[in-house]
This record gives sequence, C-alpha cells and structure tokens, in this order.
Amino acid sequence: MDTFRSFKDLKDKLFSSELTCVDIVESYIQNIKDNDSCNAFVETFDKSALHQAKIVDQEISEKKYRKLSGMIIAIKDNICYKNHKVSASSLILKDFTSLYSSTAVDRLIKEGAIIIGRLNCDEFAMGSSNENSVYGAVKNPFDKSRVAGGSSGGSAAAVAQGLCIAALGSDTGGSIRQPAAFCGVVGFKPTYSRVSRHGLIAYASSFDQIGPIANNIDDVAIILEVISGVDKQDSTSSSRPVPDYLNYREKKKNSRIAYISECIEHHGIDNEIKNSFLAEMDKFKKKGHTVDPVSFPYLEHLVPAYHVLSTAEASSNLSRFDGVNFGYRSAKQTDLNQSYISSRTEGFGDEVKRRIMLGTFVLSAGYHEAYFTKAQKIRRLIKSKVNEMFDSYDFICTPTTPHTAFKLGDNKTDPTQMYLEDIFTVLANLSGNPAISIPVKNHSSKLPFGFQIMARNFDEEGLLSFSKNNNFKI
Ligand code: GLN
Repeated sequence: MDTFRSFKDLKDKLFSSELTCVDIVESYIQNIKDNDSCNAFVETFDKSALHQAKIVDQEISEKKYRKLSGMIIAIKDNICYKNHKVSASSLILKDFTSLYSSTAVDRLIKEGAIIIGRLNCDEFAMGSSNENSVYGAVKNPFDKSRVAGGSSGGSAAAVAQGLCIAALGSDTGGSIRQPAAFCGVVGFKPTYSRVSRHGLIAYASSFDQIGPIANNIDDVAIILEVISGVDKQDSTSSSRPVPDYLNYREKKKNSRIAYISECIEHHGIDNEIKNSFLAEMDKFKKKGHTVDPVSFPYLEHLVPAYHVLSTAEASSNLSRFDGVNFGYRSAKQTDLNQSYISSRTEGFGDEVKRRIMLGTFVLSAGYHEAYFTKAQKIRRLIKSKVNEMFDSYDFICTPTTPHTAFKLGDNKTDPTQMYLEDIFTVLANLSGNPAISIPVKNHSSKLPFGFQIMARNFDEEGLLSFSKNNNFKI
C-alpha cells in the first residue's frame, strides 16, 4: 500500500471501503519500522493504534463518520498520551509513562484520529536542529547529512517522509515552523491560548503552543479546528468560539501585506531565499494585494529577549524534575540534596542545563532588573509594534529561516550561532500571533525553505484562507 499525502486521499479509500482502517494502520506501522531512515520516530503505539482502528472500522460500517476518522497522526515526544511513554527526548524522563492525556490528543481521538506513535525532538523542546535528543539527531529527509530542524524535527521529517499524514509539534520560538521549512512541509503555530497546553510538557509557558504539521493547508486546518478551544484544564486557554477552519472564510480579494525589510536585508540571508521571497511579493502585487516593505526596528533584540524570558520560565518549569517524582534517579544518593544534584546532572543534557543556569541567573536577585525585567519591557515594545503593524496590514511576511537546513554538527559547538537560527520565527512567539510556514521548493540546492506569514491574533481563519487561496506551489 502506498502512503497517502493527504487526509482526503486516505478518506477516499477508507470511506469507500476499499481499505479498512486496520489495513491502513498495519501498513503505516510496518512502513515506520522499515523506512524511518531519518530517526523521526521514538516509538510506534501498535496496540492502541490498532484498537482505535477497529473502532473506526466499526463506525464506518455503521456509516458514522467523524472529522478525523482514520487520520494517521503522530505526536511529538513532549505531548502526553495516557498510558503511553513520553520523555521530552530526555534521559531524565526516559521510561516515564503518562498518567493522563493532553487535551489536544484527547480531542484528536474523540474525532477518530489514530495516534500512531511518538516523535523525536530536541530535549524539552530546546533546540533548532534536533541534535539535542537522547535518541540521537533527526536527519533531513532531503539530505541525510543535514539537520531536520528543531525542536519538532521528528514531526516534520515524519510528515515529509509520509510516515504519517500529519503530526503535532510544539512551538515556543519556532519549533513547528523552522523544521517544517527545512523539511518542506506546512507548519502552523496558533495564536497563544488558542490550543490548550494541558498535557504539553512545559518549556516556557507564556510562549508554548501545540500546533499541526502536515503536507497541505487543509490537513493543517482540520487538525487545528479539532484541537482548538477553551479547556478548563488550562486557565490561559481562550474561550473564543472556534470557527470552521476547514471551510475557510470567504475568499477576501485584496489583502494588505507588510514584509519586514530588516529580515530581507539581514546579512545572514541566503540570496536565493531573498530573491524568491521578493518574487512572491511581486506576485502578490500583481494579484492586486497591497504590498509594502515595513521597518521593524527590534529585529536584533528578538533572540536575546526570547532567550532571557524563555530560559527564566524554563528554569522554573524544569525544577520539578528532581529524580523523586519523575523518571530518572541517580544511583549516587548519599542524601536528598546529593540525590537532586546527581539526578539532574546526569539526567539533563548540556543544552537543557545551559538554559536552566541562564534562566536561574536572569531571575537571581542581583540581575533580575537588568535582564528579566528588561526583557519583559522589550517584549511589551515588540507586541505594541506588531499590533501597530496590524492596524495597517492584514499579514506580515518574512522567510521562515535565513537559509536552508544546515549540516549536522555545524552549529553544535556554538550556541549563539544556533540561537540566531530562530531570528525570524521568535517574533510570533514573543507577540503571541499565529504564524504559518509554507514550503517553497525552488532552491538550486534542492533543499526546501519556508515562507512565513503572521496574522492578527485569532485570525487563523484569515491566515489559512490567504495561504490556501494564493496558489503557493506546495
Ligand atoms: N529553536 C528555539 C529554541 O531553541 C525554539 C524552540 C521551540 O520552539 N521549542 O529555543
């Protein structure tokens, strides 16, 4: 059986009874076992996936169809699924079994989706290359000597390779969009609070969002529709009604589009990406949209502000992993304090330790004002500037990344360089706005890259509609 590139193709076979859901699930599981050459999957959930498949088959025989009946979805290894392992790709949580399901997973299952397995990621979602994983790096499906991007590298690589129809990732500073760009698939970060964070292993709670990665806009839209909405388990989740994302809003003819000139003039940007991006802007103009270059004066402050704030939150969120309540406990336990120290020293990888220390430092008594408070002020300025831009424009566009996927190992010894990889994506997390990365595949290296579009808060509908109606060659 061939793998499907869209849920529609799968549904055609399933709903016409050409294939059963059990057939499909068995063949996907076998395919993952045989062909995961990028190291995307940590584990397949054979038993529960087949159990769900039987339920779907039964329902289809009774002509009961749900929104996601039979959709093969895999989840990033930081999203909880009851009675299944979840480790944030960290030694400290290896072999930890979740006691409850995340709201996002619960909602997918209620609509008939099949959760096929869990996907490799950077440890605790900290990274831009998926090299910080206890399971080893995820490789890029287009060139195995290159990174898949991070932190949801497994999610993007699995979708690109057809090992699942779609995947859930999480995005704190670009972790859905950047790997999606590097692997040539669509990645969507919802507005902060649109999707419940309940059951997502927290990295930086005021930034984290769960979102879909898929091969096309329709699949992203239907998943988003299912997982969005208020949840009493997450007090920050928004109570705004969830629109019918799949059917998009009526096509709005002319949009007002801003692109950030500092991104396009950035010294690190690849020339072909720049030219392709500008050509897209020209096409928009020809279609009747208004397109203007707009200055965003805080570009150089984005990554520093993001790292001060996110590490501060991480240092608090990760304090619960102490070798007592969860997962790994060191054998060196002379007393309680020593047990905490050894378990955390042995259990966390270098990048996670670096961020915990940085976060603890920026929150410490003598430095709080100089770093944490200052970064919060910068975040406020950034949000105001973004809101001001959305007074005049419907969408803000940039490339998703300055260049295509880099070589495995290239940035590993230089954290500052690695952090700068996120220069175009962290904006949407600092401001909270929804953003999509749409794949572009015209680079002479044959490596894909991404076209990023940000929209007003809660205008997921407009963003999907614009992405769908502007004939991107996906
Ligand atoms: N690459 C970014 C980082 O290293 C973003 C991570 C994320 O979005 N989870 O923090």
